[in-house]
Amino acid sequence: MEDSSIGGPLWWPADEPWPTCSAPDDEEPTGMPPSAMVPVAQIYARDVPGPWWPSGVDLLQLVWCPNEHWDAPAQQADVSPVVEIRWRRAADVATLIGTLPAPLRHYDYGYLPNPCTVTPEPLVDFPYREELPEELRPGLQQLVEDTSPGGGDVITRVAGWKVGGWPTWHLAHPLALRCDACGTRMVLLFTVAGDDLVTGVVVGRAGELRIFVCPNDHRHPFQVDLH
Ligand SMILES: [Zn+2]
Ligand SMILES: [Zn+2]
Repeated sequence: MEDSSIGGPLWWPADEPWPTCSAPDDEEPTGMPPSAMVPVAQIYARDVPGPWWPSGVDLLQLVWCPNEHWDAPAQQADVSPVVEIRWRRAADVATLIGTLPAPLRHYDYGYLPNPCTVTPEPLVDFPYREELPEELRPGLQQLVEDTSPGGGDVITRVAGWKVGGWPTWHLAHPLALRCDACGTRMVLLFTVAGDDLVTGVVVGRAGELRIFVCPNDHRHPFQVDLH
């Protein structure tokens, strides 16, 4: 069962309560009673090694509240699920959580992932061209044209569920997100790309939900955006 997976089940500490969400959602402006979150992703460091793993951590878990939150808390994206992440040491987590409480007030927003294991693929992507130094942009543009003659862009807009790499900014001007705690420029940790067929998840208008983290300290607050 120790495979990276989408949609659960998750290894979870026996003494840690299952997370709930009391943010206002589009069915209940008070957000009460709190709704149980659902498992989204469980990623082992051995499957996606890279600089995004804090020292001593080898398991990343992502859960979210599958309700639609039009006016989400500041750290979260609007019109989205409300996300939580956990960094863990796999050796510390011995309980495979079985039956979970069902989320409340949930309608079919596309935020309930179908459970499945994942087959990680290493890939190279590039910063979006507006984020590159001027002198490197023509070279990247040439690479985009050479690899995507149809006009798509599979170099800077890699689809799928992704750990690390670079965010696309093809819909908006690039944002330099800064850590609330220390002001450091945040880096992309995880991308949830809508995948109606395999995982059953749809975010935004066939968009991507991205989680940015502070490269200085993984305990600093993360930031979610929807693109
Ligand atoms: Zn919620
Ligand atoms: Zn920070």
